[in-house]
Amino acid sequence: MKNLAFIQRNDTRFAVGDFSPVLSIFSYHDLGSTVSPFLLLDHIGPGRLLPSTQRKGVNDHPHRGFETVTIVYAGELEHRDSSGGGGIISAGDVQWMTAAAGIIHQERFSEGFTQSGGRFEMVQLWVNLPAADKMGPPRYQSLARAAIPVLELPDGAGSVRIIAGTHQGVAGPAQTHTRMNVLDVQLNAGQSAIFDSAEGDTALVYLLSGRLLFDKDQALEEQGLAVLSQQGAGVSVTATENSRLLVLSGERIDEPINGHGPFVMNSYEEILQAYDDVKNGRLGPGTAS
Ligand code: MN
Repeated sequence: MKNLAFIQRNDTRFAVGDFSPVLSIFSYHDLGSTVSPFLLLDHIGPGRLLPSTQRKGVNDHPHRGFETVTIVYAGELEHRDSSGGGGIISAGDVQWMTAAAGIIHQERFSEGFTQSGGRFEMVQLWVNLPAADKMGPPRYQSLARAAIPVLELPDGAGSVRIIAGTHQGVAGPAQTHTRMNVLDVQLNAGQSAIFDSAEGDTALVYLLSGRLLFDKDQALEEQGLAVLSQQGAGVSVTATENSRLLVLSGERIDEPINGHGPFVMNSYEEILQAYDDVKNGRLGPGTAS
């Protein structure tokens, strides 16, 4: 079994565009390749949106070199990109966007949710791409709630939504460039569960709400991140309160990481190239070579 290596906590909330509060759970800026193939995780909300006519969100911005995975727990987002593509991401849905060579998009609350208002909560995970795929074609995977398998844990312990990878032989719908598991888990108080994670793989547990124990007596409080050892196989957790957690595990990408703002590449030259391409209209759908 993997052991707890350390707990990462950051209690500073900020705004991204006019989404707030946003909690930065982890970033490769702080943790480098420790979290590879994952780069960053933001928790948006929980919060309550008042009914309005002004749509909140993040206006047009580019991405290159990685993927963004948006999991909506409550509320509704609308995504739109510079090619005219777009869609609605409702509670339970996941959008797996491969920016690769480049996308320019906006992410805002949907018109319907803006009018009705209500509770919102979502996370956005950034997943790195191997160097060979960083300049590949952009792609969207809209994973509707109904397309994501839910596995009930034995003895009413909770449930696992398999977004990517597998749990107990059941595969999730996301197509990934490297091997990984992304599991959205509910675990009831007093219950334990074990999740697959291979020897040598990165394994992370983000606790959205509740309280967990690792290695029998190491507590993880809500909105904290547990980083597990690369050594050992499998992740074992026990909930001491009803808990909602994301279990992220995957094969590491052992390549240099060079990122700035919305770009994550391998070298500084490639970052400068990305800014140059945005300036000259060479980054975005339809421009990938
Ligand atoms: Mn974005």
